[in-house]
Parts: sequence; structure tokens; C-alpha cells
Amino acid sequence: MPGTRIQWQDEKFVVPDDPIIPFIEGDGIGPDIRRASKLVFDEAVSRTYGGSRQIVWREILAGEKAKDQTGEWLPQETLDALREFRIAIKGPLTTPVGGGIRSLNVSLRQLLDLYACVRPVRWLRGVPSPVTDPAALDVVIFRENIEDVYAGIEYEAGSAEADRLRDFLVDDLGASIREQSAIGVKPMSAFGSKRLVRKAIRYALARGRDSVTLVHKGNIMKFTEGAFRDWGYELAAEEFAADTISEAEHWKANPDGGPGDGRVIIKDRIADAMFQQVLLRPGEYAILATPNLNGDYLSDACAAQVGGLGLAPGANLGDGLALFEATHGTAPKYANQDKVNPSSVILSGVMMFEELGWEEAAGAIVAGLKGAIGARRVTYDLARQMPGATKVSTSAFADAVVDHIPTK
Ligand code: NAP
Repeated sequence: MPGTRIQWQDEKFVVPDDPIIPFIEGDGIGPDIRRASKLVFDEAVSRTYGGSRQIVWREILAGEKAKDQTGEWLPQETLDALREFRIAIKGPLTTPVGGGIRSLNVSLRQLLDLYACVRPVRWLRGVPSPVTDPAALDVVIFRENIEDVYAGIEYEAGSAEADRLRDFLVDDLGASIREQSAIGVKPMSAFGSKRLVRKAIRYALARGRDSVTLVHKGNIMKFTEGAFRDWGYELAAEEFAADTISEAEHWKANPDGGPGDGRVIIKDRIADAMFQQVLLRPGEYAILATPNLNGDYLSDACAAQVGGLGLAPGANLGDGLALFEATHGTAPKYANQDKVNPSSVILSGVMMFEELGWEEAAGAIVAGLKGAIGARRVTYDLARQMPGATKVSTSAFADAVVDHIPTK
């Protein structure tokens, strides 16, 4: 089947019944989790839509496989295909040491301007967790992906660049910086912050979530993190005035802490306090919008509360482009052993089906995963924390998921 391209019109994906979806298999454990997840995805679509819809997979190369076959880690053809077909899914990629490429994942985000890293965090019954009530946390983190200290603008201590920058900051701007310091730059713009918050609010509205919390460190970094908060509130007032309300206004209208009136409440929290909040008052949060560095830390901390990285899905979204991915790495010591947990990439697929608008297939996959975990047929990482569970291989886990996918 040749398949049809997904289009982007009026800021929405237009999805045919036979979309071409490129996939990057990934290095290390990539082939194992790709095989398992493909089986689950295809079975869910076939059982849900009975042949009226089908994904037409197209392999594109990146990482070690690309290097072996084409001599390049990230061929231009791959970037072109990601732009042309708009929605794709990838396994983990080895970060090549040396060779001028920082990280293939970072390169993909920067080159394709995938500015929002989206990580839903919710617990699946039966998954071992270190907290007493893991179900209470059900948040989606929108992390800005391009700016902040991750922009890669930093200079080594003692380098001519660092010294020159220090001289300028000290002599011209009156800053106090010790000699021989390394210097990093933290650029954050209204444009970059607002487009991230816009995506977060749109998501909250589309999915009926009741709040968006701006997570920042503005008490210390006033003109970067503090501005992120201000720009977030500004954007909500400018573009979503009818559908959002600030927490301050909400409290004024509900001094006794009553429920909202259906509008999305925009709140903000200082980043360090937020780490406490997700542990102590998780039920008060729905969507978290954060600058790059806070979001990186917070995503993994939240994932730990519901079972760890082996189960954490992720997506990198731009405007009209989406790349879904497992959040763990290539775990090279387990490569080709049919051993590891494919749930992270399977749940990333759930996010992909939601983006396609194929909600029924997404629901069927979640039902399959819940069924397999509920039946205590799990891979080694979960089995070692679940007394009495049956430890199964990657492929046997995929079979167990498929066994629990409902047939329409
Ligand atoms: P990693 O590959 O995530 O593996 C670290 C450990 O996490 C594994 O040893 C294993 O722990 C556990 N783990 C990871 N994936 C798992 C899965 N699917 N099922 C069960 N357990 C899983 O991290 P790393 O060793 O730091 O990185 C290896 C390579 O991956 C590096 O080249 C790194 O640059 C790259 N990387 C790529 C991505 C990406 O492509 N998005 C992300 C992160 C890292 P136990 O041994 O304790 O069971």
C-alpha cells in the first residue's frame, strides 16, 4: 500500500485513513522495542478500525544504522522525510562521541524547530511506584525545547571567548565575574516562551484539563524565568481571554476555594516548590508549562513517581511537525536480547494516535498495556519490583499487550 501524506492546514493535521508514518528504528535496544511496538500499534489499529484505517510505515535512517549505510549520522534525506510526512516516531539514538555532533536528539529538535517537549505522566494500575498514591499524579509537562541554557551558548574557562565576554560584562555592564570563569548564556524570548505556553493552553482546552501552571524560577532569574511567567500570563490574556482565568482572579471569585467555572485556570509556581507540590498535592495540577532546564528535571522526577523512565512517553512538537519518542536511551548492554520494556515507545505511540485523532486506537493500546501489567506479565525491570510477577521477554510482553487489546 503506497499510503497518503498527512497535511497541515489551519494549524491542524489533516490525517488520511492510510497515513505514511516514518519511523527511526533506533540504536541498541531500538530494534527490539520497534518490533514489539509495531506489533501492538498495527494490531490496535486493525482491531479498532477493522481494515478501514492503516498506518503505512516507512523506515528512515538515523544513528548507527544511518552511519553504517550512508556514512552520515543524520542524513539530509531523513530530515526531508520528517518535514514531508510531518508525524513520525523514533527509538533511542546513540550520541556519537566526537565528530562535531552534540547529540542527534538535540540536533533533530533544533533543526526541525520542535520547540515543545511534551511528557504525559500518569500511573498505570499495577506498576510499582515509590509513592503511596501514584494515581494522584496525572500531569502533562510542556517543556520549552530550544532556548534557555540548553541553547548551547557556553564558553570554556580560560578560552579567549570567555575572557572576551567577561571583559565586556565587567567593563561595559558592571557585572562582577571572577577571572577565568566559564560562561554560559541563557537566552529566553517572548516569542519562544509564548509559543510554548500557547501549545500548553490549546492542549488543556482540547482535552478538558482545568489548569495550566507556569513553572519558573523567576524569584531569582527575574528577566528570564520571571519573564517566562509574565509572558505566559500575557499570552493567556491576549489570546485566550474568554477561555482562561488567572489563579488570582479565580481566588477573588472563589475565596472559599470552590471549583472553577469551566475556564482553564492559569497559575504559576516557583520551580523548587513545584517539586514538593507534585509529591504533596499532585491532584492540584494538570498541565505544567516550563522553560527548558526546569522541565528536564521535573519530567524525570515526575516519571519516577509513576514507575520510572521505562514507562515514560514523550513527544517533540513543532508547528505542523511531531516526533514521538521513547524517553530512555539505547541501553546498549541489553541490545538484541529481547529483554527490555517497550512500554515507553508504546505509550509514545499512544500520544501519536491521539495527535492523529485516532483516539479509539490510543485507548485500545492503553487497555492492552493495563491488561498485561494487571496480569503481572512484565519485563525484567518491572518484575524485579513486583513480587510474584512473571518475567517475560520484550516480544512476549508485546504478545501479552496484544492479548488484552479489545476487539470491536
Ligand atoms: P539508558 O540507555 O536509558 O539506560 C540506562 C538504564 O536504564 C539501563 O541500563 C536500564 O537500567 C534502564 N533502561 C533504559 N531503557 C530501558 C527499557 N526500555 N526497559 C528497561 N530498562 C531500561 O541511558 P544511558 O546508558 O545513559 O545511555 C545510553 C545511550 O543512549 C547513550 O549513547 C545516550 O546518549 C543515549 N540516549 C539517547 C536518548 C534518546 O535517544 N532519546 C536518551 C537518553 C540517552 P538497568 O540496567 O538498571 O535495568
